[in-house]
Amino acid sequence: FRDKAEMAARLAAVGEMASGIAHEINNPLTGVVGFSELLVERDDLPDEVREDLKIIRDGGRRVKEIVGRMLTFARQQKPLRVASSITELIDNTLEIRSYVLKTANIEVIKDYSPNLPWLIVDPGQLQQVFLNIIVNAEYAMKQAHNRGKLTIKAENCGEIVRFSFTDDGPGMSRETLSKLFQPFFTTKAPGEGTGLGLALSYGIIKEHDGTIKAESSEGCGSTFVIDLPIGFSVLPVQEGDSTNPVASIR
Ligand code: ADP
Repeated sequence: FRDKAEMAARLAAVGEMASGIAHEINNPLTGVVGFSELLVERDDLPDEVREDLKIIRDGGRRVKEIVGRMLTFARQQKPLRVASSITELIDNTLEIRSYVLKTANIEVIKDYSPNLPWLIVDPGQLQQVFLNIIVNAEYAMKQAHNRGKLTIKAENCGEIVRFSFTDDGPGMSRETLSKLFQPFFTTKAPGEGTGLGLALSYGIIKEHDGTIKAESSEGCGSTFVIDLPIGFSVLPVQEGDSTNPVASIR
């Protein structure tokens, strides 16, 4: 981007469009989710029909969640602030993708420092960022050699916690690298990519006062580095859920 104002203007335009799309999708979706929820409850269904209905219901719920997030982003709301274990959020995201990672022969190597602090973040939004990065890495490695290695590191650097995602895919050209975070920039085939994933991720990380950067050389894989400030949010790591609503502040 030539300057920050251009970035802000583009993100605002994307937000407006996302809001329009989200509202359009919401109405028909309410019917899909509502009726599939009702149908699943019927007691005169063969088991396999009920299982198929559950897939429709769960898919619909997932789309509803995504649409909700798009609306949150479009309204430029301040993110939720909940004390969260970021590595657990990463692990949850890996869990969502476990089937695809396995079938694409992608080995995930985790290198998390012990005693990472919890950070005050919007867990849903951060999970969205991790999902975008992981899905892109999967895609890149699958295209290149239908197998690969994804290395995820988390380290406490004092003022910030640094998270990095390194894949051994084909890497990116200098041109791609320079346009990566622009809304609608994609090198994927029409219908396969929207070019919004990294633009939205950039906006989310910025809202969290963090930074997101990419490093890559063609033929040598890619690394995405996210720095999140520790600020006042140092909390002892606790067992159990990745978020601690007791500590949430809005
Ligand atoms: P989309 O995935 O819809 O194309 P993104 O904003 O997520 O949109 O990504 C933009 C582009 O960045 C991709 O089309 C691809 O060219 C490039 N890219 C992102 N991650 C990687 C990666 N890990 N390896 C290679 N290229 C990548």
